Amino acid sequence: IATLGLSHASGPGPAAISTIDGCTLAASDCMALAALELDGSLTFRDTSFAAVDFGHIVSARPAAVLHPGSTRDIAKLVRFVYASSSNVSIAARGVGHSANGQAQVLNGIVIDMSDLRGSRVSARGAFVEAAGGELWIDVLRASLAKGLAPRSFLDYLHLSVGGTLSNGGISGQTYFWGPQISNVLQLEVVTGTGELVTCSRRTRSDLFFAVLGGLGQFGIITKARINLQPSATHVHHVHALYADFASFQRDQLRLISLQQQRKAIASFEYIEGHLVTNSDSLVNGFSSVPFEGQTVNVNLLPSPGNASVLYYLELAKSYNIALESPASVHEQVSQLLAPLAFIPSQVFTRDEPFVDFLDRVHTGELTLRAAGLWEIQHPWSTLFVPASAMATFERTVLRTVDVSTFNGPVNIFPVNRNKWDPQMSAVTPDEDIFFTVSFLNSVGAGQGPTLKALVDRNSQAWQACERLGCKQFFPTHTSRADWEAHFGAKWAKFVLNKRRFDPKAMLSPKQNIFTRGQ
Ligand code: FAD
Repeated sequence: IATLGLSHASGPGPAAISTIDGCTLAASDCMALAALELDGSLTFRDTSFAAVDFGHIVSARPAAVLHPGSTRDIAKLVRFVYASSSNVSIAARGVGHSANGQAQVLNGIVIDMSDLRGSRVSARGAFVEAAGGELWIDVLRASLAKGLAPRSFLDYLHLSVGGTLSNGGISGQTYFWGPQISNVLQLEVVTGTGELVTCSRRTRSDLFFAVLGGLGQFGIITKARINLQPSATHVHHVHALYADFASFQRDQLRLISLQQQRKAIASFEYIEGHLVTNSDSLVNGFSSVPFEGQTVNVNLLPSPGNASVLYYLELAKSYNIALESPASVHEQVSQLLAPLAFIPSQVFTRDEPFVDFLDRVHTGELTLRAAGLWEIQHPWSTLFVPASAMATFERTVLRTVDVSTFNGPVNIFPVNRNKWDPQMSAVTPDEDIFFTVSFLNSVGAGQGPTLKALVDRNSQAWQACERLGCKQFFPTHTSRADWEAHFGAKWAKFVLNKRRFDPKAMLSPKQNIFTRGQ
């Protein structure tokens, strides 16, 4: 009762409760919720954290937050809301690293999944079973303790398993192993009716595929089985600088084609690329490309008058130092790099522990946090661009951006569509190879472009890209027509799945796809 903040008018027992401190829902809902017997707790106070996310753009405060003590708590809460006549909505919140309020719910109930943690590696090491609120860094650590690792990662591992699998989970390994949603063996899900279901490709596959990339619309992921493989111990990490987009893109395609030719094991299993400004800015200029202790030879760069931006390939070849010597890996990498068209000699390499490589963005986070540059506005946008449209995209979108307004990384990397199971809810362009292009902007305090300027730019980029057959990753559509266009041929099934698994449209309402039903 203390956690619920109840106040009693007189005498003991629920019948005597006249007000529930801090509860802004209908009195009957407040009382019924407060009476739920939970392993964890439900609070009507201290809910403001759930109105904030990484984007710092949208803010909707929930009426209550469930801190689940068990999966049972989640099922109990959802079942209760489903059966009641209230119109309360529910959103699972991983770590709230969405950019547009997707894990928020105005005057509804947020389930704080970060209270459901834990990873367990199976006896034979075939998979790791992780709680929905577990962070990928902890999934990795639990797996590494057994000499194993998942195959497909994110660039940033301090994100929750459930939040990521509701979207896709992409990184430089996606071309090789598929997105994280292609590396799941089994899910445990609480549907929008409160049913607790274990599903996989074979059992309740309809729910399994609906939930993967399903934007939290069909159920709350409480557990996921992720397949494992023997872990590397080290990574040979490569950055190679390019003066022109065409060569940069051609080499990315060349490298991923090695995988199609089944030469993957000898290739890089991580391929990304980034845009930098042709300036010596330590933040986003060419100086950010070399590793510590290395420098760019500026005499080899085009003058900024001829090229205002440069590109660099980021590659990684992982190895187990007990099985393979660094020298042999370096030799293989030299051979792989030999045909590439980067600026001669402007290639930078280093060997580093596997876990340091995978957790590299967190290192950047700590630096940004210390400088007060983490908890700021992030109008992020990620587009999937068909490979055939990349030249036009570069000409009509990338090249038109005022270089002085690049205020964060721009990532560009190719992905193979055949690694995405079409049965999943996640959507890709209708082409065998597409590029992920992410504009990861932030709004500096009083410096650089304003939030409005960046949001407008994202919107213009999207409008131009949509005509080229692009799709949004972490989509942020608001009209029914736009969602229908986003899902295309998958829309009818998406709607059908919603009717089956969340018939009252209670879950993740801030994705703005469906309207809450009674
Ligand atoms: P939240 O923001 O909390 O939730 C996202 C959505 O999923 C919401 O609709 C929510 O209701 C729903 N949800 C949350 N948990 C569950 C659950 N257990 N079951 C069902 N639905 C749930 N993405 C990539 O793919 N690759 C990257 O490399 C990458 N890097 C990133 C780096 C940073 C610094 C940030 C901020 C984001 C990055 N992302 C990346 C985006 C990230 O994957 C998504 O924002 C993801 O949704 C965040 O996970 P989260 O746990 O914070 O989810």
